[in-house]
Amino acid sequence: MSHTHQTALVWFRRDLRLADNPALTHALSEARNVIPVFIHAPDEEAPWSPGAASLWWLHHSLASLSRDITGLGGRLILRQGASLACLQQLISETSATLVCWNRVYEPSCIVRDTNIKRVLKDQAIECSSHNAALLFEPWQVRTQQDKPFRVFTPFWKHCQTRLAEQPLPLAAPNLLPGVNKSLTSADLSSLHLLPRIKWDSGMQAHWQTGEAGAHARLQQFINDSASHYATERDRPDKTGTSCMGPYLHFGEISPRQIITALHEQQTPAESYLRELGWREFSHHLLYHFPHTTNAPLDIRFEKFPWDKNAAALQAWQRGQTGIPLVDAGMRELWHTGWMHNRVRMVVASFLTKNLRIHWLEGARWFWDTLVDADLANNTQGWQWTAGCGADAAPFFRIFNPTLQAERFDPEFNYIRRWVPEIARLPNKWITKPWEAPDIELSKAGIKLGRDYPSAIVDLGASREAALDAYKEIK
Ligand SMILES: Cc1cc2nc3c(=O)[nH]c(=O)nc-3n(C[C@H](O)[C@H](O)[C@H](O)COP(=O)(O)OP(=O)(O)OC[C@H]3O[C@@H](n4cnc5c(N)ncnc54)[C@H](O)[C@@H]3O)c2cc1C
Repeated sequence: MSHTHQTALVWFRRDLRLADNPALTHALSEARNVIPVFIHAPDEEAPWSPGAASLWWLHHSLASLSRDITGLGGRLILRQGASLACLQQLISETSATLVCWNRVYEPSCIVRDTNIKRVLKDQAIECSSHNAALLFEPWQVRTQQDKPFRVFTPFWKHCQTRLAEQPLPLAAPNLLPGVNKSLTSADLSSLHLLPRIKWDSGMQAHWQTGEAGAHARLQQFINDSASHYATERDRPDKTGTSCMGPYLHFGEISPRQIITALHEQQTPAESYLRELGWREFSHHLLYHFPHTTNAPLDIRFEKFPWDKNAAALQAWQRGQTGIPLVDAGMRELWHTGWMHNRVRMVVASFLTKNLRIHWLEGARWFWDTLVDADLANNTQGWQWTAGCGADAAPFFRIFNPTLQAERFDPEFNYIRRWVPEIARLPNKWITKPWEAPDIELSKAGIKLGRDYPSAIVDLGASREAALDAYKEIK
């Protein structure tokens, strides 16, 4: 094969996989030698630099990518520092004339990458960027009035008419030619991605990171849960969802690989595809309304009377609110780095409405603790629940954690698993221990305020107070 370039750099970022990686495929078709590079530059993503759980995932994902690259005869070069300076240094060390990457659609990355492209082009280096993360480019999906969508249903209807345009996933290469032994690579441990205090054992036990882990988890979902996803996706007590979040965020798998696998194995996927549609919608919104990472899309909420209550925020973060479903969710998050979507909505509604604490406080906590923390999905999820986003749940929709638990955790296994101190309470009281008669509490061996917190707010009164606060901005 004749190549246009002698050497290309492939700059890995949120595409930590070898299969269906358009930047890698392009580099291999254009250059004789291909050098895979990862640059650790968390400050460039400020104010949303990766949180602790994301860094944990990144460490293991890079280890796995590095092993996979070595298996193909290549070598992943790790560097640390400003991305542009590191790329320029590598270009001078390798004489590369082509740099390929897959796009990241976050505001700070768009600014950085646009600048890097401009500077490198001025230095006669060819740059080639690709879409590896989304089904559709955010700028390609427009309303009939040629505007970005702000409502999910028409957005997704429009996308569905174009799903057939999706090309098949690209194959992984068989070989990565061009190992340059003289290039230095930082040691993965020198990036200090793992926590200093060992709080990650729960996550370690829960997840298999990396490209192989993504495909194993997808296959498990297809075998065990996909066919009843539509009816069980709202049940936190079951493993009814795919847990693809972190794999998609880090690009260990692509949405079109998932869709192709579901299709090939004849799995009913309509309601699952709709959730991938929400992911597309979140990225669409983030691209067109980049300020929403820190400000409400609905500007009326700039004047909302949020409450500053450090003690309540800390109780929420620690799963010590005295509201069992909320505490179960927050503890699941702390232990595994993940929380079920239904419970995410409940804990977010509780924080922003019952406690009236600013949605950004919740978004920041999720950012630090979720292994699937994703700027597009997290921003959209918080703004949607708080009532200030696009196509948001109306503010007066305030989730009642007691009723939600009765409906979606009907045997209360989820609450009993994550809040074991109240596990012996009878079903009648387990979602609302504050209403349990003293005799029932003492039979279950509980004294509220000692063994489990008394509820930090009254659900009914705080709901009314939230609705009154909303009237001020309506
Ligand atoms: C307050 C709040 C914060 C959230 N923060 C994040 C976040 O930081 N990162 C994140 O990936 N998701 C976030 N979500 C969306 C959703 O909760 C997770 O994507 C989902 O729980 C991940 O589990 P799963 O992979 O098993 O989902 P599945 O039900 O198996 O769905 C498959 C994939 O579809 C996408 N998806 C599913 N639901 C949504 C949704 N509502 N919005 C956007 N994409 C969706 C995800 O990529 C998910 O991995 C948030 C939701 C809320 C209410």
